[in-house]
Amino acid sequence: MSHTVIIGNGITGITAAITLRRQSPQEHITIISSETPYPIARTALMYVYMGQLLPQHLDLYENWFWHENKLNLLQAEVVGITPEDKHLSLDNGTTLLYDQLLLATGSTYHRFYLPGLEAKGVQGLYSWQDLGLMEENTKGIQEAVVAGGGLIGVEMAEMLRTRGINVTMLVRDAHYWGNNLPPEEASIIARHLQEQGVTLLLETEMTEVLADDQGHVRAVLTSRGEEVPCQFVGMAIGVRPRVALAQEAGLETKLGILVNDYLETDLPYIYAAGDCAQFRDPSPGQPAVEQLWYTGRMQGETVGMTLSGKRTKYARGIWFNSAKFFEVEYQSYGQVPARHPAGIASLFWQHPSKHQSIRLYFRRHDQAVTGFNLLNTRFRQAVCEKWIKEEATLQEVLPQLGQAAFDAEFHRLPLKELLSVYNQYLQHHALS
Ligand SMILES: Cc1cc2nc3c(=O)[nH]c(=O)nc-3n(C[C@H](O)[C@H](O)[C@H](O)COP(=O)(O)OP(=O)(O)OC[C@H]3O[C@@H](n4cnc5c(N)ncnc54)[C@H](O)[C@@H]3O)c2cc1C
Repeated sequence: MSHTVIIGNGITGITAAITLRRQSPQEHITIISSETPYPIARTALMYVYMGQLLPQHLDLYENWFWHENKLNLLQAEVVGITPEDKHLSLDNGTTLLYDQLLLATGSTYHRFYLPGLEAKGVQGLYSWQDLGLMEENTKGIQEAVVAGGGLIGVEMAEMLRTRGINVTMLVRDAHYWGNNLPPEEASIIARHLQEQGVTLLLETEMTEVLADDQGHVRAVLTSRGEEVPCQFVGMAIGVRPRVALAQEAGLETKLGILVNDYLETDLPYIYAAGDCAQFRDPSPGQPAVEQLWYTGRMQGETVGMTLSGKRTKYARGIWFNSAKFFEVEYQSYGQVPARHPAGIASLFWQHPSKHQSIRLYFRRHDQAVTGFNLLNTRFRQAVCEKWIKEEATLQEVLPQLGQAAFDAEFHRLPLKELLSVYNQYLQHHALS
């Protein structure tokens, strides 16, 4: 009987294991993870802190599922891989032999050097352990700083606000989430954050953490020379693929563990997938590292097939993303760059008072729709993907936009307004 070992019980690792089990009922499968005994929904960690979920609600499956499907879960840290004789060393002193190995080691939050960062009360949020630490670090405090303006930063801000803690967010760019959102959407989110009691300092970086006599954070210094008092600092300046173990084993890595389109690394019988993997040769416009829940699941399914002996190429669908910024829901489909590349334009509509907007990206030369950016407007994924795949034009899409909207929201769809923005675009371009 062949033995597959998977390092990481995140969405990627467990999807691979379940896929492999379906294909290969006899395979001996072991999933090792140091974080939790059972796989959890990382994306819902915040709701435990906010009191909306109990810890057991994070479990992705009932505990019996793993035994029933002969998937052996092992809680330990893998501290070494020896590819030559296919063995793993664990932190509990034991070793394990594998026939094939999947690295699904995920990410860690980005760490960098800054004076004072070792102060108590400074932390990121990625793991179950981080959540526990955040619980401890924020007990009874009044003021917090969140450094970084991405999705995890806004989650931390929301978590802290539910406890009545004053939050100051430091964002390096001129716009909130400026690498991902065009300025108009960024302004809507910024306004919303401010309404939720978050003080947003744009074009501002943290330069030093100041500690009190007990070594606990008491303030941060910013690039504008301000001192912002706080008893907690949330580090939210991005995540990085977790590659140290792979590097030490001699696997080729860059930002992530390098893989081909079959999620194979440069060493035989070793695969990598999910947040930790980096495609050697992504298609133009596609990211080399995909750090999302659904891409982890898709990569897990693909590599699970390959592990079962049915070598399968990773087929990326149309890119999508969704997130929540307090009450504002964000959805995107297709290519939605923050700055328009050459040959791409967009139509943008926003509600004058609500936090709602629609942006349709299109190619200038043939007006084929290439992406959707939506705030507090929910469009059906299947419909948007179909339009993007079929290269439907604005003339085709705009009158049919109602097909994409969820029924309940249909009457609120600003069709007239979008058509008028489109007509203005046509007039402007006919004149110019
Ligand atoms: C707070 C937060 C909110 C998020 N919200 C969203 C969202 O709304 N939508 C979205 O699409 N994505 C979201 N993400 C990102 C998403 O959760 C990740 O892309 C996804 O979970 C990655 O899955 P993975 O299985 O590749 O890795 P992970 O979930 O990181 O799992 C890897 C596991 O491997 C373990 N491991 C690593 N090295 C070792 C070792 N040497 N030995 C043993 N175990 C090891 C780790 O402890 C970890 O448990 C969020 C992430 C965070 C942190």
